[in-house]
Amino acid sequence: AAIDETVARLLRSDAYVDGAWIPAASGQRFAVTNPADGKTLAEVPRMGRADAAKAIEAAGRALPGWRGMTAAARARILRRWADLMMENQEALARLLTLEQGKPIAESRGEVAYAASFFEWFAEEGKRAYGDIIPPFRTDNRILVTKEAVGVTAGITPWNFPSAMPTRKAAPALAAGCTMVLKPAEQTPLSALAICVLAEEAGVPPGVFNVVTGSEHDAPQIGLEMTSNPIVRKLGFTGSTAVGKLLMKQCADQLKKLSLELGGNAPFIVFDDADPEVVMEALMMCKWRNTGQTCISANRILVQSGIYNDIRDRLVAVAEGLKVGNGLDPDVRQGPLIERAAVEKVERHVSDAQFRGARVAVGGRRHRLGHTFYEPTVLTGVDPGMAMSCEETFGPVAGLIRFDTEDEAIAIANDTPYGLASYFFTRDLARTWRVGDRLESGIVATNTGFISTEIAPFGGIKESGIGREGSKYGIEEFLEIKYRCIGGV
Ligand code: ADP
Repeated sequence: AAIDETVARLLRSDAYVDGAWIPAASGQRFAVTNPADGKTLAEVPRMGRADAAKAIEAAGRALPGWRGMTAAARARILRRWADLMMENQEALARLLTLEQGKPIAESRGEVAYAASFFEWFAEEGKRAYGDIIPPFRTDNRILVTKEAVGVTAGITPWNFPSAMPTRKAAPALAAGCTMVLKPAEQTPLSALAICVLAEEAGVPPGVFNVVTGSEHDAPQIGLEMTSNPIVRKLGFTGSTAVGKLLMKQCADQLKKLSLELGGNAPFIVFDDADPEVVMEALMMCKWRNTGQTCISANRILVQSGIYNDIRDRLVAVAEGLKVGNGLDPDVRQGPLIERAAVEKVERHVSDAQFRGARVAVGGRRHRLGHTFYEPTVLTGVDPGMAMSCEETFGPVAGLIRFDTEDEAIAIANDTPYGLASYFFTRDLARTWRVGDRLESGIVATNTGFISTEIAPFGGIKESGIGREGSKYGIEEFLEIKYRCIGGV
């Protein structure tokens, strides 16, 4: 059965606040469904502003105790949490696939990635070093210390239901902050399952809270998070439009903000690229999660000399990808998250066709129905088409032909976004040259595999503010205090 007892133990349908499992004050609930078959998995609380306020107050009460522990004591708890996630990896992965649809192998990978943040930041918390600065007078001393920001809030999207919550919670908690998190309405179950393990790991009540809400509740919960003075910082991953709205809302109290927003990643294949490396990278950054990641290759630029070769290989790959329920171990492409996602993909494909692109394979909804879409390759795409300007977030690879390096870079940078860029070449000088000129927070050369807890993930331009992961990630949850001691 899809939900055996190991999964059932982690499947919760209440929110987790102040160490307790609770319904919404209103008593209302909304359904979480499996995108592969439309069936309801659970009904979780429709929380509103008052519920969010209560969770924020709980996080405020828990703060002094948690912040007052040694970093090493916090690290032991976070480390146990990571270990418990890995002990429950299979059950967490199944739950993730059930609510989000991605292939089970990808879910296992995501759970490991999610757990890695607790392990990594548990250690980084111990290294929140300050400074001693030579004084400006003989009778004073200057120290710089780092302190937890305080109570924080997080809002996360549905495409990585396990890793997005932990990528925010781990650095926050390691630094000594507490957190109230609102997971996406499509996928709250993975975040709630992580709370089950938080309890077992010994995370004290109020330190990590998860409030759930439907799409109608999200703006209300967001309003409370951005206007409640107890909250000192908001971390958001999601669309650029909502990120901008939250930034405006945070402006009133100048709340600190980290934003991981949309991308429009260019993927540039030069004539001298190794085509097998290119195909392997596209598995990772085009077909993974059925194209639903903010670092998915959104514009595939291919130089004229290698264009036909890449096209033919890509068509063969797309034809071979098995589409279906992610719990089937042979499946490589799951359903899209919801109907609106399929409609966006359809709009992009028809816009491209209307403007002269050709469908080499796919280009339609899949015969499995629901939100399944055929892996699709389009040729003759140009930079003016909708799919080149907006994130498609689906299994569509559109090929743009180019001739010169300058032309490729001009196209690549011609976007308000700047999260990830990829390029493929075997020329060392070009590796440096192109890497220098691409405007993005992440530049990958000859690989599509970039996500790791040890490196800084984040964007420039309208892709966001701040970094997650790595030694830089914990700084987002630390304030600097300058102490000047006189009369020495
Ligand atoms: P996506 O396109 O990935 O669904 P969204 O930005 O709409 O991107 O959603 C990301 C997260 O932001 C989700 O948890 C969603 O509920 C939340 N969200 C959406 N609108 C608002 C809002 N006005 N205020 C706060 N959170 C919001």
